Amino acid sequence: MEKKRKIDSECRTFQDKWNFQYFVIESRNKALCLIRNETIAVLKEYYIKRHYESKHLQNYSKYTGSLRTEQFEALKRRLKSQQSLFTKANTEQESATRASFRMALEIGKRGKPFIDGEMIKNA
Ligand SMILES: [Zn+2]
Repeated sequence: MEKKRKIDSECRTFQDKWNFQYFVIESRNKALCLIRNETIAVLKEYYIKRHYESKHLQNYSKYTGSLRTEQFEALKRRLKSQQSLFTKANTEQESATRASFRMALEIGKRGKPFIDGEMIKNA
């Protein structure tokens, strides 16, 4: 019993070699395809391989050796910069929401929905 469970969990462990083999990284117990930011829900080589071979093999089989490593690093950098842009956009939106919430509070306190210079300063 013990042995069987161990083998099963090993099968579902992300293997580093998949990085360069299939251009995927591990993300929240799933595999993330860096080429188009696609999630492969099952962390098993069979599914990852199938995804890569059916969608990207044609364009990416030309990358071999160090070219492949470089391509993988470039895709990873692109993903990171996209993620930080996304975080930045979220933060900006949050502060905008907070500002308009404060504005609404200010209007509520005064009991009338008018905007003058002083009120904008308070908000
Ligand atoms: Zn993909």
